[in-house]
Amino acid sequence: MPSSERIEIRDITNQGFQKHRLIGLERLYIKTRKYFYLVQAVMFLLFLYLSIGPLYAPIPKSHDTIFSNLTLLSQFAFWGIWYGFTLLSVIFVGRLWCGLLCPLGALSEWVGKFGLKKATPSWVKWNGWLVIMFVVVTILGQTMDVRDDPKGLALLFLYIFALAALIGFVFGKKGSRPWCRYFCPIGKILGVVSRIGMLDFRPNKQRTNADKLPEYIESGLCPTDYNLSIKSSTLNCIACGKCVHAKPKAMLGLYLRKPGEEVKQIKSRGANWSEILFILLAPGLAAGGFLWTILNNYTDYRNAVGGYFLDNNMLSWFNHASQLVSSQTWNQHYSWLDVTTITTYMLFYGVVIALFLSLSNSVVAKLLTYNRADFIDCFKGLAYQFIPIAILSIIIGLCGKFFQVLNSDFHVPNNVDVWIKAIMLLASMIWSLILSYQFIKNYKEVSVATKFIAYLIIILNVGVLLYLWWPAILGQGPMSEVEMIRKHLIVPS
Ligand code: SF4
Ligand code: SF4
Repeated sequence: MPSSERIEIRDITNQGFQKHRLIGLERLYIKTRKYFYLVQAVMFLLFLYLSIGPLYAPIPKSHDTIFSNLTLLSQFAFWGIWYGFTLLSVIFVGRLWCGLLCPLGALSEWVGKFGLKKATPSWVKWNGWLVIMFVVVTILGQTMDVRDDPKGLALLFLYIFALAALIGFVFGKKGSRPWCRYFCPIGKILGVVSRIGMLDFRPNKQRTNADKLPEYIESGLCPTDYNLSIKSSTLNCIACGKCVHAKPKAMLGLYLRKPGEEVKQIKSRGANWSEILFILLAPGLAAGGFLWTILNNYTDYRNAVGGYFLDNNMLSWFNHASQLVSSQTWNQHYSWLDVTTITTYMLFYGVVIALFLSLSNSVVAKLLTYNRADFIDCFKGLAYQFIPIAILSIIIGLCGKFFQVLNSDFHVPNNVDVWIKAIMLLASMIWSLILSYQFIKNYKEVSVATKFIAYLIIILNVGVLLYLWWPAILGQGPMSEVEMIRKHLIVPS
């Protein structure tokens, strides 16, 4: 059946809440989605080239650039462009990376066609994986050399592709993506970003009994199991476009919305504690990943821990960590002491900041809901308004390689990247402040004075985060030779 016969777009546009419907983009989805697999196949080959190619490339010399050495190009593509910019792109184009480009999700979906089609066990569906994955990936990003070592990078992608294929084979059904829905560490973070994004696939008709129906149902049209007729969040939407006019009962449209609109109504948009913990942990953990490289207090901490181990004859802590953590190729010889102290240092920042934000959010929630029963909803809502700061923290953390290459290969002055990072951080903070203001304003029965105090506490929270991040933005404390090699300010001869 020609696609135009199924589409009754003109009949339902510009009716009330549908006025921001992006019909042109819907048509584009419908016309092109059958070719998405071609784009994904090209992306797969590109991933293969950039992850396997450096194994056969020479180790870069100090005069090499991303244009003359494949290893440097691969590092720039993966850690300078792909990760950080994919996160940022979600605000403007939703998870187009997932729906259109990502070869990993496509592979997992394709393998599922031939697989065992087992039911997904409940432990897999546990929401808490978001936090566990985020903490593990962020800490490994600092302690493992996979980012720089071609062998480590190739192995990392090999393991991840194999795991995604295995998950697809065991749990995948026709067209479903259990890997994307439950496991992918990147996808989970992209899902949180999409909460503040400008695009939304949502039902064209509003159901009155939505709260009585399950939010997710397996084996439907949606690869991530949304119960499409009542879809109310973007958290697990991979923007594949399959639901757009594909079936009359699952009529979703693509809508433009104000950035942050979903978090304003988070109470009815599937809020969960795992996301909240992630939002509270992210600014401190990501800052810790910067600060250990530039603050003397890390060196003091490492010396104190190392001294304790020496005094107690625990010499094994000074052995080289395993090859997964410490790469011989790049002359990076982390000991177990390094790995342990970096990990605990980052966790310390993450936990302390999360506790501080939780405490101050509790005070604000108590002020706004005094003598009422919706304290928890208010606390949750306040946390969600901090998504911009949480995500920008991660993006700034991930874009280090991008700025290094700007400096070294494009000769962009050092202070330009300081300015860009500072503007991005300040913009995220202002955005969170505006969202929080609008959230507090909605408590109409609360007095202006109380709201004012509540808002001052939010400003204090943001001020503390700014104080925490500022040294990381200005950057560059004393660097060891190992750290300079790690950042490619020098390369091993
Ligand atoms: S969720 Fe992960 S694997 Fe799936 S499409 Fe998105 S980035 Fe790729
Ligand atoms: S709701 Fe499901 S089918 Fe529709 S775009 Fe999102 S992931 Fe794809």
